[in-house]
Amino acid sequence: MKRFFIRTFGCQMNVYDSERVSAMLTARGWTNVPEASSADIIIINSCSVRDKPLQKLFSCSGRFLPLVRKKGVKIFIMGCVAQQLGKEIIEKAPYISGVFGPGAEDMIPDVIEKGLFPFVSNSTDLLEREEIFPVDSKGNFFEQYTSSITVMHGCNNFCSYCIVPYVRGKEVSRKASSILEEIDILISRGVIEVTLLGQNVNSYKDPVTGMDFTELLYEAAKKPGLERIRFMTSHPKDFNEDLAAAFRNIPSLMPHLHLPAQSGSDRVLGMMNRKYSTVEYLSKIELARKHCPDIALSSDFIVGFPGETEKDFDKTLELINTADYDVIFAFAYSPRPGTAASQIADTVPEDEKASRLNAVLELQRKKIRKVRGRYLGRTVKVLVEKESPKSGTLMGRNEHNLLTHIIDATDADRGRIIDVRIDEILENTLRGKKNENS
Ligand code: SF4
Repeated sequence: MKRFFIRTFGCQMNVYDSERVSAMLTARGWTNVPEASSADIIIINSCSVRDKPLQKLFSCSGRFLPLVRKKGVKIFIMGCVAQQLGKEIIEKAPYISGVFGPGAEDMIPDVIEKGLFPFVSNSTDLLEREEIFPVDSKGNFFEQYTSSITVMHGCNNFCSYCIVPYVRGKEVSRKASSILEEIDILISRGVIEVTLLGQNVNSYKDPVTGMDFTELLYEAAKKPGLERIRFMTSHPKDFNEDLAAAFRNIPSLMPHLHLPAQSGSDRVLGMMNRKYSTVEYLSKIELARKHCPDIALSSDFIVGFPGETEKDFDKTLELINTADYDVIFAFAYSPRPGTAASQIADTVPEDEKASRLNAVLELQRKKIRKVRGRYLGRTVKVLVEKESPKSGTLMGRNEHNLLTHIIDATDADRGRIIDVRIDEILENTLRGKKNENS
């Protein structure tokens, strides 16, 4: 039996890419095993967006080195670090057999089966390469009832702190027909919720028909059996009225919008090359709430960007106070080699970054009671997915994408969307009981 093991770091796009590779290998008779120790090949899907990506990659691959020596296991690296470093990875760690940048993963099965080692491909030229979504990778899913689908790769925005445009290349959209076909396959396998993924979905454009992202949402919503649609991520500069109106017009489009602000200071936003001001950002939130008053908002923030003063940081706190987010993800700035921001001196001391990060998280903790108070006593609809690893109760996401524990749900509820009355607001989750009629 041919066995493979995949270890995935980073974002949902990486999880999705790992699933595609897994599907391609499975279609060729390989078996996905949960432990590296019983695999013949090990694939590490790397991420360079967050902290210490290189150390993480090499310490992870180094842990597998005894398997290479004793059992002849082959190790392959895919993802953003593979793109960024290419053959340098093999120069630093010659026990690695192959390096595949984003978009080159479809070559993995052939490289493995033909023994083309060592192999390096970190081309970002994905244009016209619809085969980066080969038929045997379509319709795979990593949860039973929900799935993500990548609608586009890459990004043209070049935010000054971000490595994505360098490692994932320029924006390339998939054909809508290919995306819709994948949705059909997923539905036939029992999926009822899909999340359409892209670094900046607002830039989506079908390379053949010119269909834009909002039109794609309307087309996806016509699919019988698809009960829920979500998407991420929207760049605030491109979020527009048409997309906001889709939240009102498409009943299956769930009321959650991830709109990363990154900072509340126009000066810092300028240095980040985000191409919007705080006033413009808030106007996009207003637009979303005009069409969908109950929409849940989430956002990303970076604190301690080079040159960020106390005054700039106070404006970030002000924005968080004003926007009323359901969820925020905040990070202390750290430079990514190769980005424009990495050329600027990292002026904010680390302890100051840590204290700003704490201040953001503390503010959000305080705000959660107020913002999520609106769910208390209310009946929400939850797609029951799986058991909580901690409490063992069944859980799933409500319409607003909040993880909800249902204390009296049973196995018969799995895969169903049920009414749940919320009795408790916890720091990261909601908790409630089934509504008797559901
Ligand atoms: S929009 Fe900016 S932060 Fe997002 S992927 Fe593109 S460059 Fe990176």
